[in-house]
Amino acid sequence: MACSRKSKEQLNMVVKNTTTILKRLRALLKNTTYVTEQIHAYIVPSGDAHQSEYIAPCDCRREFVSGFSGSAGTAVITNDKAALWTDGRYYLQAEKQIDSNWILMKDGLPDTLSQAEWLTKELPVGGRVGVDPYLMSSETWKPMDKVLKEAGHMLVPVSQNLVDLAWEDRPTPPQNPLMVLPDSYTGQTWEDKVLKVREKMKSKNCGAFVVTPLDELAWLFNLRGSDIQYNPVFFGYVVVTKETVDLFIEEERLVSSVKDHLRLNGSSGGKVAVTIHPYGHVGKFVAELVDKVEGKIWINPKSSFAVFNAVPKNRRYVQPSPVTAMKAVKNATEIAGMRRAHLKDAVTLCEYFCWLEKEVPKGTVTEVSAAEKLENIKRGQKDYISLSFDTISSTGSHGAVIHYKPSAETDLPLSTSEIYLCDSGAQYKDGTTDVTRTMHFGTPTDFEKECFTRVLKGNINLCTAVFPQGVKGHMLDTLARTSLWNVGLDYLHGTGHGVGAFLNVHEGPCGISPRVSLTDVPLEEGMILSDEPGYYEDGKFGVRIENLALVKKADTQHNFKNKGFLTFETITLVPLQNKMIDPSLLTEKEVNWINDYHTQVRDEVGAELKRQGKQEALKWMMKETQPIG
Ligand code: ZN
Ligand code: ZN
Repeated sequence: MACSRKSKEQLNMVVKNTTTILKRLRALLKNTTYVTEQIHAYIVPSGDAHQSEYIAPCDCRREFVSGFSGSAGTAVITNDKAALWTDGRYYLQAEKQIDSNWILMKDGLPDTLSQAEWLTKELPVGGRVGVDPYLMSSETWKPMDKVLKEAGHMLVPVSQNLVDLAWEDRPTPPQNPLMVLPDSYTGQTWEDKVLKVREKMKSKNCGAFVVTPLDELAWLFNLRGSDIQYNPVFFGYVVVTKETVDLFIEEERLVSSVKDHLRLNGSSGGKVAVTIHPYGHVGKFVAELVDKVEGKIWINPKSSFAVFNAVPKNRRYVQPSPVTAMKAVKNATEIAGMRRAHLKDAVTLCEYFCWLEKEVPKGTVTEVSAAEKLENIKRGQKDYISLSFDTISSTGSHGAVIHYKPSAETDLPLSTSEIYLCDSGAQYKDGTTDVTRTMHFGTPTDFEKECFTRVLKGNINLCTAVFPQGVKGHMLDTLARTSLWNVGLDYLHGTGHGVGAFLNVHEGPCGISPRVSLTDVPLEEGMILSDEPGYYEDGKFGVRIENLALVKKADTQHNFKNKGFLTFETITLVPLQNKMIDPSLLTEKEVNWINDYHTQVRDEVGAELKRQGKQEALKWMMKETQPIG
């Protein structure tokens, strides 16, 4: 989840000398060519202008100024100090990576000041704090502005990014060509999607709607890109009004097939004609929209302050984007595509685990070489595009580090005396996958088997749940933990996230988490979520079992108040290692579930393995799916 395409350098934990960079930045704070009036502090957030989870190298500004490469963190620079905030996942890494110019602020500890509190202590009277308004969401801006104002200071938008001025060899923003995703993959034309968005706008009395997240833009136009590693998205914005569709993207990026797709080659687009504008013109365009359209302007509260603030308060309709909800519910074509992607992915994992079983006893396979082997295997599948995130290939104690990513520095050989945890996923043109399997290539201990079995019980308990419409994900979270809680065990992460259809592997708005979130929504038929309970024994091993599951109608004997009941269907089809299962801990219903699941794997993955001529993997799969109990 860190800045992409940098894995080698970032993991070597080289301490970067930031003296020159800070000197340059501090000079810019006073340079009135770029700031209207001197500023006393400058905030460097870690995200991009679209609040993306993964970012492109040109947007790794916080890493550039501080040397810290983790995915979460904010740098604040004053005339004489530089401070870096990051959370518990990254304290150690940050301590290793930052030089003596920096103070580490440990977010999440009770004594750590917030950025605004720290600034009120450090700033001179009437201090001015600058930030690039495209890089801070309006949600973050508001509370910070409030604290600073109360202390007599000001948060100031600085339109020219000061880090970019100080960054001589800044990578150029990606300009990779776009790809048209045919209707046979999307199941709905982009014109229909735009018309549906207009219906939603009308129902809320909105005259315009501004799309800022990149995955929403890709989904809406049935286009895909490769601007951000693992995420098939491209940089742009779109504004939809009752009559117009304005797309903000550099025109030279639109190859002929994309122009045809968007009907930009002369033919009339009719009601959904698209007009192209340069990417950088969005702020001005949104500001001018106020005089052009009637009604409110729909804007997502997570949008950048720059775009959000371009709309006057009395004209804003601030609600989660309608596209988020539309995109989360997959149509029949997308579901069929996700199934195809999972079948191919299952083939690759059978091939991979079969290979590991042969090679691990020789002692020559390491976490890194294993992850590379898996990627190579996946490349052989039809419509394969890329991984969907960095493979978590971890042995023994590394498995207990939840966000572990193997590197040259930490690489360990796989062995027959330790548990191996592998969390991997891929982007295929027909769908996105994310699956975790935990294996032992020797003899697991009774405790390891117990933990695995309890995690599996949690996985089954969640995916077999039947619940009425209207239930939100957090209400189901307990189901995945009960078997662990019963014996005083637990895991410290959420249980499930939404997954895109050939889009981002982490997708809102649905999720399954112990935390109650204000943006959580009821689960709906057609949503696809992960089911991934785990157990982590610090310093020893990690267990996680992750399948993706489709929300579908449940067939119930009764139907209380005609609510309609839902359940899940597991779409990941990869064997669960029999030797890790302790059948004495399972109920009859669980034994049946496992046997039925393995029968399905034999039928569907077996046929595909045969079709692809992968005899050895087929043999391995048949061995791993023998009935238990
Ligand atoms: Zn995963
Ligand atoms: Zn996941």
